[in-house]
Amino acid sequence: MSAKDVQSLETVCVHAGVEPEPQSGAIMTPIFQTSTYVQPTPGQPLMFDYSRGGNPTRTALESSLAALERAKHALSFASGLAAEQAIAQTMEPGGRVIVSEDVYGGTGRLFRKLFARYGFQFDFMDLRDLDGLAKAVDSNTRLIWVETPTNPMLRLVDIAAVSALARKVGAKVVVDNTFASPILQQPLALGADIAVHSTTKYIGGHSDLIGGALMTNDDELAGKLRFIQFAAGAVNSPFEAFMLLRSIKTLALRMERHCANGLAFARAMEDSGEFASVIYPYLESHPQHALAKQQMRGGSGIVSVYMKRDMEGVTRFLTGLRVFALAESLGGVESLVNHPEVMTHASVPPELRQKLGINAQLVRFSVGIENVQDLIADVKQALRR
Ligand code: PLP
Repeated sequence: MSAKDVQSLETVCVHAGVEPEPQSGAIMTPIFQTSTYVQPTPGQPLMFDYSRGGNPTRTALESSLAALERAKHALSFASGLAAEQAIAQTMEPGGRVIVSEDVYGGTGRLFRKLFARYGFQFDFMDLRDLDGLAKAVDSNTRLIWVETPTNPMLRLVDIAAVSALARKVGAKVVVDNTFASPILQQPLALGADIAVHSTTKYIGGHSDLIGGALMTNDDELAGKLRFIQFAAGAVNSPFEAFMLLRSIKTLALRMERHCANGLAFARAMEDSGEFASVIYPYLESHPQHALAKQQMRGGSGIVSVYMKRDMEGVTRFLTGLRVFALAESLGGVESLVNHPEVMTHASVPPELRQKLGINAQLVRFSVGIENVQDLIADVKQALRR
């Protein structure tokens, strides 16, 4: 079933990409756990010749992912960073990339520590500042790398405005859509060239796999990316492709609950007066609340807070939580809590961490699909410790 056959994303989630298996009629795409394929005559395989190049379970996943972002092409990878790496590899050395300064720590590390060695120029800036971006873009700018909402500060970038600026100089726009998922935000429809995801997060949704994906409508770019996927080989296994296909069926349902719980949790944290501040895009107090309402269909499930305690007090709080598990990652059905400064964002240069406000007091919650009252009660009991 293609994206055009059905209109609503809820239906796309359940059906897109998955066709009954022709031999047995199995409604679920089987796990084609094979490395190679028998060829009837030399050099003329039936569909695929080798699973790095193609595998039926992965093809079903890629069709489903394309339908989710309403894109012509989707490619799936072994991790979010592998998908990002493939995008960076489409550039010629010497190319300039303008990057959201508060991208996920691992994305910054990929650019600063790996690709910068090959002559790429990465300029990190605050992409909320559209005037600053308009002055910064030039004809050597190949990519503008957006993450919105960002991890962990939940800043937003205006995708349509950045895409319009990029078009003037012929730069491509990449949007890391991990925090919103295709259910809440559709970057390609807003003018971006590529949407990229860590499917480890909301798309996978159960904290049991690592994966990545990218989607685009650009045929030429898709051809280059397909070649990189095949030539460099960072593909996911048939088993993980199957797990993702299964997860996608409940993605819309899960996002609905993540949004409802995220908003209720953020409001309760704000109303409690226990925190110096609470950050969540769908809270009226978020400085970009209007943009959140404009380009997102819901606030998603990530809530960041500043605590009114020193590191010792923050540690006591984090280790006192009973329902929230203290762990990296996010977007799973179970609620997680993370201390970005010493966990997920430890690789961000200390000066930048300080500038962004990633300090000892910052705590990031990934609000799961449990009963939200249990989550609120958990925070309250841990605060009393
Ligand atoms: N993008 C964002 C926004 C992330 O949060 C992460 C991981 O936390 C990544 C990309 C990298 O994805 P992966 O860990 O699947 O390589």
